[in-house]
Amino acid sequence: MMMTALKRAHRRFARLDRTLIMAVVLLSSVFPVELFPNTPPAPKGLDGQYSGKQGQVLVVKVKGEEQATEVKGTFLSRTIPFFREFRPGEPAGYIGLLGIDMQDEPGTYELAVEVKQGEQAKQLSFNVLVAKEKFAVEHLKLPKEKVDLDEKSVARWKAEQQLVQQALAENSRLKLWHSNFVEPVSGKRTGIFGSVRIMNGKPRNPHNGEDIGAPMGADVAASNDGVVRLTVDHIFSGRGVYVDHGLGFYTMYFHLSDVLVKDGDLVTAGQIIGKVGATGRATGPHLHWGVKLNGARVNPYTLLDLPFKNGSSPANSIATPKPETTSAPEAVPVKQ
Ligand SMILES: [Zn+2]
Repeated sequence: MMMTALKRAHRRFARLDRTLIMAVVLLSSVFPVELFPNTPPAPKGLDGQYSGKQGQVLVVKVKGEEQATEVKGTFLSRTIPFFREFRPGEPAGYIGLLGIDMQDEPGTYELAVEVKQGEQAKQLSFNVLVAKEKFAVEHLKLPKEKVDLDEKSVARWKAEQQLVQQALAENSRLKLWHSNFVEPVSGKRTGIFGSVRIMNGKPRNPHNGEDIGAPMGADVAASNDGVVRLTVDHIFSGRGVYVDHGLGFYTMYFHLSDVLVKDGDLVTAGQIIGKVGATGRATGPHLHWGVKLNGARVNPYTLLDLPFKNGSSPANSIATPKPETTSAPEAVPVKQ
């Protein structure tokens, strides 16, 4: 009697042992880090390295992910959508355009890329070295009332900033640009991107675009295909047009004398969208050409060197992949 009770108890413990072992095995697959606290974190930058200067655009390529349904990067809290790219005779790849903001601090940062395939996701990690750009210093003399704003003008300026921010907040999923970017007007570059501006002796915000000197009334072309997201008549930018090229890529055209498009219009690369003027805060007729790429203010002239020469990339490259013949080099800082 005594023996049987002992045996039963023993069997119960044996079962409990097995249950415990199972639980540990299961838990270790769910919480591997908790059970092995000494496991080091995954090293960063294992999948490649890129480098560029403040204000540049980097072309980042993720290869061999033909089955991927979505590829998305994160860099300094900015989202970088990737789009499909095909080259004949090569496996399909994904490309992301990484904008380095003119004021990103020099240093090494991680570009974390998530590659999704249905429910599955894997992480890639790139190191991006941001180098300092030597920006020029410009001294400008403007009428006092154009620099030192009264209270009413400050309120107007703030409201306008908010309006623009709202209009540009959404990254449309469609990639609308097809071929290479074009210069909107040809002329002398009179205001340099990134230059530190001293207005009437006081330092102001750095110049976040390029000024191109051109005669009053000269044609201004859209730099690429897109949709007109916003047309404005604002205190600083004057009459202006914001074109959305998709995937968080915007170009803007300021100080126009005439705006020839309306909000929501579709435009194509080279289409005339306005005329050169001197509206807003401008000392003479010129075009201010600006770019925002996923929130980063980049040098517009870097767009001209982007490797999308043949213009056959599909309009919605994520949803309707089809062969194209662009020839993107792998890790090319667009401009030094
Ligand atoms: Zn400007």
